[in-house]
Amino acid sequence: MNPQKTDCIFCKIIAGEIPSQMAYRDKEVVVFADIKKDVPVHLLVVPIKHIPSLATMSDADMPLVGKMVAAAKKVAAEKGLADKGYRLTMNIGADGGQDVQHIHIHLLGGRPLKWEN
Ligand code: 5GP
Ligand code: ZN
Repeated sequence: MNPQKTDCIFCKIIAGEIPSQMAYRDKEVVVFADIKKDVPVHLLVVPIKHIPSLATMSDADMPLVGKMVAAAKKVAAEKGLADKGYRLTMNIGADGGQDVQHIHIHLLGGRPLKWEN
């Protein structure tokens, strides 16, 4: 139903073909550590279904985004970030800085973050 894209790095991580530090997994969403160690907590919230971009995603898949945010909220609380706060970011397309063509939300926190663009 949700065929793995053989050329997709996040599908490979979900399938366990590329090792990752997995923080959360349910039937539809996984959360694992970003390889970038730029902030104390940098996690990626990723649907198991291969969806390349929010821009082309169908309305039928939209509830998945709520499930991704719910997973992010849960993991952020588990990591002790709920009180001090954190940031959720979704990069979309070239101007948005999306490098991996499988939708994901960055969960960033553990120190005060600046807003840069
Ligand atoms: P984007 O730029 O598409 O919003 O974010 C893609 C993210 O995936 C980047 O922050 C990048 O560091 C991360 N990333 C790329 N390759 C890998 C990988 O092999 N493993 C993990 N854990 N993260 C990766
Ligand atoms: Zn994928």
